[in-house]
Amino acid sequence: MTQHVLVVNAGSSSLKYSLIDAKSGAAAATGLVERIGEDESHHVHHGPDGDAENDEPVADHEAALEAAVQAFEDHGPALGAVEIVAVGHRVVHGGDRFAAPALVDDELIDAVTELVPLAPLHNPANLEGIKVARRLLPDLPHVAVFDTAFHQTLPPYAYTYAVPSSWQDEFGIRRYGFHGTSHSFVAGEAAKLLGRDLKDVNLIVLHLGNGCSAAAVRGGTSVDTSMGLTPLEGLVMGTRSGDLDPAIHGHLARVAGRTAEETDRALNSESGLKGLAGVNDFREIMKRRAAGDERAQLAFDVYCYRLKKYVGAYYAVLGTVDAIVFTAGVGQHSAEARAAALQGLEHLGIHIDPVRNAGPDERFASTGDSPVAVLVIPTNEEWEIARQAVEVIADR
Ligand code: ADP
Repeated sequence: MTQHVLVVNAGSSSLKYSLIDAKSGAAAATGLVERIGEDESHHVHHGPDGDAENDEPVADHEAALEAAVQAFEDHGPALGAVEIVAVGHRVVHGGDRFAAPALVDDELIDAVTELVPLAPLHNPANLEGIKVARRLLPDLPHVAVFDTAFHQTLPPYAYTYAVPSSWQDEFGIRRYGFHGTSHSFVAGEAAKLLGRDLKDVNLIVLHLGNGCSAAAVRGGTSVDTSMGLTPLEGLVMGTRSGDLDPAIHGHLARVAGRTAEETDRALNSESGLKGLAGVNDFREIMKRRAAGDERAQLAFDVYCYRLKKYVGAYYAVLGTVDAIVFTAGVGQHSAEARAAALQGLEHLGIHIDPVRNAGPDERFASTGDSPVAVLVIPTNEEWEIARQAVEVIADR
C-alpha cells in the first residue's frame, strides 16, 4: 500500500513541492514555482508524462500553490486520484520548542510566528506556505517538520555560547543547528550501508550543498553541529562565511561605518566561495581551479581546510568514528573535495581509496580495510519529511 504525502517547501519567492510515497520514497511528481511576485515567474512540474513549464506571473504563495494543484490536475497525477495521507511542511526554525515534527494547528502557527526573529528570512515564508496549504487543502492533516529538531539533543555544553547567560533567556541565543532532516536521513542510510544498527554507530555527517553543515551523530542522536543560532556559523558555504572572529562586526562598524545589517548581508550573501573566488557554484570553482585560477584554488583550500578541522573536532567529540558521510551537491559529487578534506588523516584510521572515491555511483569512498568508512550518500529531505509526517499522523 502506498502512503502519499505532499511535501511543501515554501521559500521567500519560491515554492517547491513533491508528491512522495513515504514507504518507498518514490516521487509521483515534483515541481518548483520560482520568482513568485515578480513580472515573470517560472513553474516547472515534473509529472508522469514528463515536464510542463509555465512562465506566467504568479502573484503570491496562494497563487503558486493553486498553480501547483492545477498542474497536478493537468499533467498528473490528479490529486483526487491519489490517496494523500498528509501534507508535510519544511519549517526552518523550531527554536527549542520543537524537538520533533508536529501536527499543524493554530497553536503551532503562533509558536512558529514567535520564532520569526530567529529566522526572519525563512520562517515567514514557511508559515505562508502552511497557511495557504491549509486553506487550499483543508481536509488533510498538515505536519511541520523542523530543520532544527534533530539537533535538539545537543548537550548544554555544546549548544551554549560563552556569552552573558541572560542572552539565552532574553533573546534565545544558543546553538540550534540546521539541515537536521538531511543529517537524520543520511545517518539512517549510513547505518544500513554499514549493516549496523543506527544505535551502535558513531558518524560524522557532512552536508555540503549551497549551505554546508557538519554533525556529530552518536547512536542516531545529534551531539554537535556546526551551524548555530543561524545557518551562518561553521563550514565555508556557497555565499556564507561560516566561522569567523565575531569582532569583525564591530571592527567594520568602526573603520568603515558599516551597519549590522550591511555586514550581516555581506557575510550571508557575498562571502564563502563567492566572496573568495567570485562564484558560489562549486563546479565553476573547480573549472577555474583546473585552469590555474589562484582565487579559485584558495577558495577550494579554505573550504577543504575548514572541513578537515571539523572532522578533527567531531572525531574528538565522538571518541570513535565508524563512518564519515558526505552528502548534498558537493559532498555527493566532488571526489576532489572529499579527498582534500580527509587527506593526511590516515593516522586517524581514515583511508580514502582514490578509485572508489572517483567512482560516480560508488557509496564507499574508503579502502576495504579502512577502520573508518567514508561514505557518499545522496540525501533525500523530501522523503524524510514524508516519513516523519506519516509517523506524526499515525501517533494521533
Ligand atoms: P542546495 O543546498 O541548494 O540544495 P545542492 O545540494 O544542490 O544545494 O548543492 C549545490 C552545490 O553542489 C553547488 O555548489 C554545485 O556546484 C555543487 N555541485 C553539484 N554537482 C556537482 C558536481 N558534479 N561536482 C561538484 N560540485 C557539484
